[in-house]
This record gives sequence, structure tokens and C-alpha cells, in this order.
Amino acid sequence: MTESQAVASIEDTVVKVAGAATVWAATSEAERARVIRAIADALDAAGDSLIRIAQEETNLPTPRLQGELKRTTFQLRIFAETIEKGEYLGVIIDHADPEWPMGAPRPDLRRMLVPIGPVLVFSASNFPFAFSVAGGDTAAALAAGNAVVVKAHSGHPKLSDATAAVIADAAARAGAPEGLLEVIHGQQEGVDALKHPAIKAASFTGSIPGGRALFDIANARPEPIPFYGELGSVNPAFFMPAAATARPGEIADGYLGSITGSQGQLCTKPGLLFVPEDSTVVESLRVATSPSPAPLLNERIQESYVRELQRIQAVEGVDTIKSGDNSLADPPEATVLFTSIDQVLADPETLIAEIFGPAGVVVTYSDPASLTEVAKALDGQLTSTIFAEAESDSDLEVARDLLPILREKAGRLLWNQWPTGLSVTYAQQHGGPYPATTAPTTTAVGTTSIARFLRPVVFQNFPEALLPAQLHDSNPLGIPQQVN
Ligand code: NAP
Repeated sequence: MTESQAVASIEDTVVKVAGAATVWAATSEAERARVIRAIADALDAAGDSLIRIAQEETNLPTPRLQGELKRTTFQLRIFAETIEKGEYLGVIIDHADPEWPMGAPRPDLRRMLVPIGPVLVFSASNFPFAFSVAGGDTAAALAAGNAVVVKAHSGHPKLSDATAAVIADAAARAGAPEGLLEVIHGQQEGVDALKHPAIKAASFTGSIPGGRALFDIANARPEPIPFYGELGSVNPAFFMPAAATARPGEIADGYLGSITGSQGQLCTKPGLLFVPEDSTVVESLRVATSPSPAPLLNERIQESYVRELQRIQAVEGVDTIKSGDNSLADPPEATVLFTSIDQVLADPETLIAEIFGPAGVVVTYSDPASLTEVAKALDGQLTSTIFAEAESDSDLEVARDLLPILREKAGRLLWNQWPTGLSVTYAQQHGGPYPATTAPTTTAVGTTSIARFLRPVVFQNFPEALLPAQLHDSNPLGIPQQVN
């Protein structure tokens, strides 16, 4: 395909999706929930064949993919439930008040959220279901009332097309407009779609350089649009002294499990583990058994893993606690590196870095007070974790000093649990300051992630006959309204 043919085909695709968007935005919550549930049912029914394709393209094991598909259809269904409840609309009604104390009468104001318009989703390499064509961003965008263009990840193109075909068929049978979701392939095609004036928001899960490049394009458009990028995170885990003394074996096993789950290809992997220098955690890690190596998602990720691991290994003052002969091979054995907090403080830019793959860095400290120094040196994070003994006053004191700094840095703060598990719930927060994300006020996971694809509108002084039903005083749909 020539470049001009590619642009023409992106033009056709975006125009088709924009047509569907107008129809879809006008549907009721009940109607959208019905279609979304039909899509979830169809994906479940097609599970075996989709998982087979996913396995071939991503090297991820079947049980992991089965779990991920279950999470994906659960996610679709929880968004269906969310829109049916109506709270997501954020309805606020201020009745007119001639005595409003600001010095002028208050007009009748009725505020609600409306669909932002067609959304472009850049899907992730590491979650071929849950952060891809039918993933959380798509589910949130569809539930909010938007049609979607998905830029497929080059790591699983066949699965992306197969998933889109299941969605298109289920959506058509449920009466949704044609063009509700379309998939495109290719970096340039993704950029062309991002620049298209009909696209009103974009979301992304991937690397810092890729996400930053696309964020800049979204902002440089004649009409800039919100770009919700989830990029990179080191996810530090801090073991307080008493906790490290009480459970060195548990820390070692837990850490190894956490950095090797999904072969370390999780954005929530705890890349840095801080332990006291007199603890036996390092020894426990040396003798702990690593899981068998398994191939990474694709060649690009294997190459960048080896490059990044070698870069950190080459830093003076960084030693290796644990690695097999095949730590740089394909597939790679897990590697645990080891350094001191002084080294990290001397060169935070080099040592506080994500290594996407089965590796982690243990950092020892002698003075717990230095943990606050290192916390201050952190960039934005998706997660930060504290492990402590609840009965230890000294642990609690260190944690109390650390917590306010970590709260400035991360979107999810954990206590005595590893960060790699990420539940899809109502309160979930998967985000954080840059470079964890490009949009620190939002989340990429959980039901409130729908807010990314909505836009507030207030109606001033309108007659009821012209207002959306959600804003009527009689509240015929029975949705939550804040009335003042
Ligand atoms: P990536 O290289 O950033 O690619 C993500 C998506 O963006 C792909 O669709 C890719 O297109 C596209 N893209 C990348 N750079 C682009 C550019 N300059 N212009 C236009 N499109 C561009 O991410 P990845 O393939 O997943 O690479 C893995 C790295 O991402 C890891 O090393 C890790 O650091 C990070 N990662 C982070 C998370 C997270 O949740 N934060 C998740 C997964 C990965 P193509 O596929 O067509 O090349």
C-alpha cells in the first residue's frame, strides 16, 4: 500500500467510525449496556479460538490468557452495570435562586457528562485481551457512548483482527451501528488516525518514548485532544526494618514471584526492592528457586530487555545476586541485581529505570531515613509499596515519614501486598504523575476510567422539553442526581 493509499484508508475508517459515533452517542444507557453484554458473551463463546491465536502470537501461556480473557469480559460487564446505575453521568442540578449570596441571582444550571466523540485506542503488547482491542480503554469508551478506532499492537495483529470480527458480529446482531469499532494496523496509520480531526481523544499503553511521541502529536494538532498515555513505572517496594527481619524468606519468594510473573512484562512489576543491609533477604534470594524461563512477548521486547539489563549491570557498584547462564538468552532466566542506596542516590536517573522483563534490583540501606531521600528522587509511579510490621513502632514511624512523599509520586499505594495484581473494581486507581502516565488526574483501570471519555456540559435556563431526560426534575430514569 502506498502512503497516500494508507492515508485514504485511514480517512475511510475514521469517517465510518465517526458516523457510528453519532448514532451510538444517542442511544440510552440500557441499550448500550445490552450491546456491551452481547459483546462480552460473544468473546467468551469464542474464547478457545481467540486464546489459540493469542498463544501463537504472544508466547503467553494458555492459563494466563484464559484468566486475561475472563478479566476482559468481566470488565465489559462491569462497565455495562456502571452506565446502568447512572452515577457516571455526574448529574448536578442547581435550581434558580434569586437570593444567591454572590450578589447576583443564580440561574437554573443542569450539568452532566456527555460522550467526548470518537476515541483512538493504542493497544498494549503485554495484555493481548485486557488492554487491547476489547480491553479496558475500549470498554470504557464504548460504555461512555463513543465509537472506537483501535490501533492494533504489532505483536498480535491476527488476534486483533479476530477479536474485532467477534465484536463486529455481536454488535451487529445486537443492533449497534456498523463501524462501532474498527481496527487499524501500522505506526504511520496510527499517527494518521491520531491527527484526524474526527478523533476526539486517544489512549495508549506502552513505552515512554512511544507514548511521549504520540502525546506530542496529539497536543500539536490544530485541535489538541486529550491523550491518556500509560507509559512506564519502576514501582518501588520498601521493606521496613522489622518486616525485613521478621520475614526474609517470604520477601525473597514474594519478590521473585512478583518480578517473574508474566515474565516480568507487567507495568506494575516492583523493579526496585529496598531492604536493610543487615537483613538476610539477599541471602534468601540467592538460594530461592526461580521459575523456568519462558519466551518474552516478541523479539522487540526481548532485545530491549537484554539491552536495558546490560546497561544497568554495567553500572559501577551494581552486582548480580542471582542469574543463570541464560540470563541474557532467549528465553531469559530471571536476574536479580544488587546495589546500595548511596549508589542509587548518586545516579538516580540511571538506576531508577524500568527493566521490562524478568529482572529486579535489590537496594540495601543502613539508615531508614535515607528512604525518604530516595523517594524524593523518584519520578511519577503507578504504584509504591510499603511492607512493615503493624506492631512495630519503629516501622510505623519510618512508614509515616515515607507515605506523604510516596503519595505525591504514585497513583496506588500498597501496604504489605505486592503490586503486580491489579483488580478491576470501582475504587481502583491505575495511573500516576508523568512518566507513569500523561494524565495524572485519571485512571486506566476501574470503573472511573470512563471519565476519560466524557466531557461536561451545563444547560443554563432550558425548558424541560429540550433537556436530556437525565436532567429532568421528575428524573424518569431514576439516576443519581445532586440537586441544590
Ligand atoms: P511501544 O513500543 O511504545 O508500542 C506501543 C504502541 O505504540 C504500538 O502500537 C506501537 O506501534 C505504537 N508506537 C510506538 N512508538 C510509536 C511512534 N513513535 N509512532 C507511532 N506509533 C508508535 O510499546 P511496546 O511494544 O509494548 O514496548 C514495550 C515497552 O513498553 C516495554 O519495554 C515497557 O517499557 C513499555 N510497556 C509499558 C506498559 C505499561 O503498562 N506502562 C505496558 C506494556 C509495555 P507498533 O506496534 O505498530 O510498533
